[in-house]
Amino acid sequence: MNATPLADLSADDLATLLDEQRAAYEELKTRGLKLDLTRGKPSAQQLDLADDLLRLPTSTRDSKGVDVRNYGGLEGLADLREMFAELLWVDPEQVVAGGSSSLTMMRDCLFYLTLFGAVDSERPWGQEEKVRFVCPVPGYDRHFTLLESLGIEMVTVPMHEDGPDVDAVTALVADDPSIKGMWIVPTYANPSGSIVSQDVAARLAAMPTAAPDFKIFWDNAYALHHLTEDEAKSADILTLASAAGHPHRPIMFASTSKITFAGAGVAFLAASTDNVAWYLGHLGNGSIGPDKVNHLRHVEFFGDAQGVRDHMARHREIIAPKFAEVDRVLTERLGGRGVATWNTPTGGYFVNLDVVPGTASRVVELAKAVGVALTPAGSSFPYRQDPEDTNIRLAPTMPPVEEVTAAMDAVATCVLLAAAEKAAGA
Ligand code: PMP
Repeated sequence: MNATPLADLSADDLATLLDEQRAAYEELKTRGLKLDLTRGKPSAQQLDLADDLLRLPTSTRDSKGVDVRNYGGLEGLADLREMFAELLWVDPEQVVAGGSSSLTMMRDCLFYLTLFGAVDSERPWGQEEKVRFVCPVPGYDRHFTLLESLGIEMVTVPMHEDGPDVDAVTALVADDPSIKGMWIVPTYANPSGSIVSQDVAARLAAMPTAAPDFKIFWDNAYALHHLTEDEAKSADILTLASAAGHPHRPIMFASTSKITFAGAGVAFLAASTDNVAWYLGHLGNGSIGPDKVNHLRHVEFFGDAQGVRDHMARHREIIAPKFAEVDRVLTERLGGRGVATWNTPTGGYFVNLDVVPGTASRVVELAKAVGVALTPAGSSFPYRQDPEDTNIRLAPTMPPVEEVTAAMDAVATCVLLAAAEKAAGA
């Protein structure tokens, strides 16, 4: 902690540090590590929390008498929609409970927008000369690859602690009708941990946009994933947008992927009732109804919205110590060195590590060579291009805590070594 910043070291001291880190790195090579901090997956211990789902549902009908084994009910089981409407602070009729992946719902919305346009579009987006999206960075890699796959151009704005740089967003969307939408992960963002403030949300909901059919893809994947008892409440974007006269602007997404089972949870979409009708209208051409057996299983498992909150507290007990460990090791090894900054998220699945500009790729490469897999540098940016080569996303939930410790110790060595190499011009 009392370490000297690299920038203040004499040439001799820097050379010593470089030698020390090279030696530490050589020692790492001998450990035969095989550690993985790449993806934000729940650990087996977290998945075990939901194992009762494997024995549910016990009934074939929901509380309204609907036989869940049959076709129908495209909008999803009412009991589950009501439960998650409460958790997402929206009205039940604004919620669709769908399949197991919210990312698929996002992709479907983008497909429908491209092929058919929105409720407030003049024409399908695919008939526009150019379609662009505002992307706060660092952000979620799959959002960016999805846009890339559709040829939607990406314009970046910085992500701050209280959400995207709203001045930058407002300026971009005001004059350019090709800017049709933006991504936001409003609560415990992937990977910055940011929480969109009420004020930022209100400005995004109300800002004038040159495109009449501008859409906010409000991906609330981590709405309930608190790491402390101070539970952030997501801004109520649907009400804010409606009050500002833009009711069809936001489309909200969420899922139980990191609440129950990541491969067999339930995904949700919430929006204005017109948007919901639009979504279901298109969905209905390809589906006669969702997996309502899974919906009922989730209803029985949780009981009510409080059951979901209680369940998330059990997740927190398992993963909060892993996040604490990331912070402890980074602080002990890198604190005061001036070689890295990182956040201490209060929720979500990631730690955002910024290393000396120009060294992120080198750190990831060094880590890989000693058996520590990190998300490729640049992943949190459109086209995988981090202009500063500084950002690394750490995902500590999956490995057991002692592996997190070992991995972070190795990462710290790699960060120091890369920084010392750069400072020494080595
Ligand atoms: N959005 C964000 C921001 C995510 O981090 C993830 C998962 N890593 C997803 C969506 C994927 O959600 P789902 O499993 O519901 O498709």
